[in-house]
Amino acid sequence: MARYRGSLCRLCRSEGLKLFLKGDRCYSDKCAFERRGYAPGEHGQSRRKRTDYGVQLREKQKLKRMYGLLERQFRGYFEKADKKQGVTGTNLLIFLERRLDNMVYRLGLSNSRNEARQLIKHDHFMINGKKVNIPSYLVTVGDQIQVREKSRKVSRILEAVDTVARRGIPQWLELDKDNFTGTVKRFPSREEMTMPIQEQLVVELYSK
Ligand code: SF4
Repeated sequence: MARYRGSLCRLCRSEGLKLFLKGDRCYSDKCAFERRGYAPGEHGQSRRKRTDYGVQLREKQKLKRMYGLLERQFRGYFEKADKKQGVTGTNLLIFLERRLDNMVYRLGLSNSRNEARQLIKHDHFMINGKKVNIPSYLVTVGDQIQVREKSRKVSRILEAVDTVARRGIPQWLELDKDNFTGTVKRFPSREEMTMPIQEQLVVELYSK
């Protein structure tokens, strides 16, 4: 699967927002956005007027980058969200939240979604007792996400669990730290997905 290989901090700087792509570093004073909170490049500090299209495009890029997806995958979620009953924008956010790599990150079993993807691919997780190594796997209500017995000494997982208090666990998830197990209690409401995203702009962009 193709993926973005450039600088992650550059993505935050070009979106004008912390996307929290580098785990613990994002919470420290080493964060590039804290030090240089303007767009990269020669004209990064000059103000540019954006068209409506430009604003919609940036919102889409922001969301896509936050979850570490490429255009085709992201568009696929939009199409599924559009076919589903309910508000398309909210459906889209819920699809993104349901990805296994996101759940592992939200549960504090990894420091970032990128790291979660690597750990999942390296066979460190099970869902409802069965090994799953697909980061895009969509979890559902009642699913139990568990670190495999043999993986409970992996330093990256232990470090993430140790610092989970700093990020906090969303209300719709439950973590049993001692057993390295997370449970999906329910899907989040729109109000509970607090990232600064105007998903309606993404819907408008794709509906043209
Ligand atoms: Fe973004 Fe994290 Fe880099 Fe800061 S440290 S610019 S939040 S990826």
